[in-house]
Amino acid sequence: MTVLVHPTALKDHKVRDFRMLIDGRWEEAKGAPIDRIAPSHGVMVSRVAAGTKSDAERAILSARRAFDVGPWPGMTGAERSAVLLRAADLIAARAEELAYLDAIEAGKPISQVRGEIAGSVDIWRYAAALARTLHGESYNTLGDGTLGVVLREAIGVVSIITPWNFPFLIVAQKLPFALAAGCTAVVKPSELTSGSTVLLGEILMEAGLPAGVVNIVTGTGPEVGAVMTTHPAVDMVSFTGSTAIGRLTMANAAQTLKKVSLELGGKNPQIVFPDADLDAFIDAAVFGAYFNAGECCNAGSRLILHASIAGDVVRRIADHAAKVRVGDPLDPETQVGAIITPQHLEKISAYIDGAQKTGAEVTHGGETLNFGMGQFMAPTILSGVQPDMAVAREEVFGPVLSVLTFQTREEAIAIANSIDYGLSAGVWSRDFDTCLTIGRKVRAGTIWMNTFMDGASELPFGGFKQSGLGRELGHHAVEDYTEIKTLNMHIGARTSWWVPKG
Ligand code: NDP
Repeated sequence: MTVLVHPTALKDHKVRDFRMLIDGRWEEAKGAPIDRIAPSHGVMVSRVAAGTKSDAERAILSARRAFDVGPWPGMTGAERSAVLLRAADLIAARAEELAYLDAIEAGKPISQVRGEIAGSVDIWRYAAALARTLHGESYNTLGDGTLGVVLREAIGVVSIITPWNFPFLIVAQKLPFALAAGCTAVVKPSELTSGSTVLLGEILMEAGLPAGVVNIVTGTGPEVGAVMTTHPAVDMVSFTGSTAIGRLTMANAAQTLKKVSLELGGKNPQIVFPDADLDAFIDAAVFGAYFNAGECCNAGSRLILHASIAGDVVRRIADHAAKVRVGDPLDPETQVGAIITPQHLEKISAYIDGAQKTGAEVTHGGETLNFGMGQFMAPTILSGVQPDMAVAREEVFGPVLSVLTFQTREEAIAIANSIDYGLSAGVWSRDFDTCLTIGRKVRAGTIWMNTFMDGASELPFGGFKQSGLGRELGHHAVEDYTEIKTLNMHIGARTSWWVPKG
């Protein structure tokens, strides 16, 4: 059973039209716009400009001019910081409008999106602080004749490509850090959830960002995104999305040797030992698997349970999952909203069918939920999953928890590391050695110990293996948007290379 929160017809909703921001001007697209059908309500909620290759090229050249001519890269850190802080205040002032847009376009629970907008405000403020503290190094240890200074310079024009699962939060994990470093940018949101990113463009103009520093081009990946990854005037691509398109992005960027930062998929394990605080873990297991309907790169979609506790733990997770409230994202009590598109719902269902055919068992959920509008999926538990099954290795990106078991600590580590992904992992034990051993041996960018999916602007985030390249958040984030330059300075008379004649 699942607690159902029935969506009701959208009252007072006015379909919004979103334009593109190119070189400081708002532009309509030349062709027909892209209609967004709300995943929860099944009706059109917004129309977004379908940008073209030539729109993307104009935006890139605008960002190039804004970088090469300035003034943005030449402004002081304090001046850039002031713009970022104003943007943070304006985001906070428009939080409810932004949260509503993400909820209705992505089908996410409104209470959760409010948290994401608040988190984004914090990230913009944190990046503003880094604009003033970014620095290089100096070497006064090279002898009387030499002084070495290592500069961190803004890398240049950055293409930022974002997905639909956290539309406003993910652009906040990239853009303010690029701006703090002094870069200029072209941003392409997912065609499914562009509204809040376009609003961010309005906010940045109001905050005083010079024209051309941030350009927002909406449209599809193959049309707009592809140019952003190949154009010679772009210096760096920062991408979040699927591992398949991440790989393509890297190959495209390789043609002109652009720097690439990739935040890709995950199949994140939670490893649980018998001595763990199981009450705390049960809650974290349900949260980790069903938060954002499992459409989350960080989802704790693989449980690796000690065999001695597996039966009891799975029963308790199923009891807890039955209390999760699924349905209308606009109801503040809802915990799990809609699935992004009908095609994605089919993909999730196909994974569940495939798992059953290869010997796994649906212990809870497994069915789609029919509210007469939108597309929804029940929180699902698959037991008896073996490490070689697709649901143990591939990103389902839906509310589906796969349960595996282990006998020894070494076996748990081997299962955790046996797949291509390495984004994050959790370990649950009251034993210090166990937690630290798992923390050191599991190959993933973040390891949570006796908690799951906590985060902070200060803590770096990113993946090992095919989960990505580079780190977002933390001070590393702003450094990622810089080039390193060495100034090697000679002091006093220089010894000649040619031995003087006579
Ligand atoms: P994609 O990787 O296709 O999309 C991510 C972004 O890349 C979107 O803005 C998309 O544009 C853009 N894009 C698509 N094709 C290109 C291209 N050729 N060049 C440049 N940019 C491009 O993810 P999907 O939205 O299709 O989701 C598919 C799967 O990816 C999910 O089922 C999930 O497994 C995974 N995923 C992982 C995410 C993560 O956070 N790690 C986030 C989202 C998805 P557009 O879609 O507008 O065409």
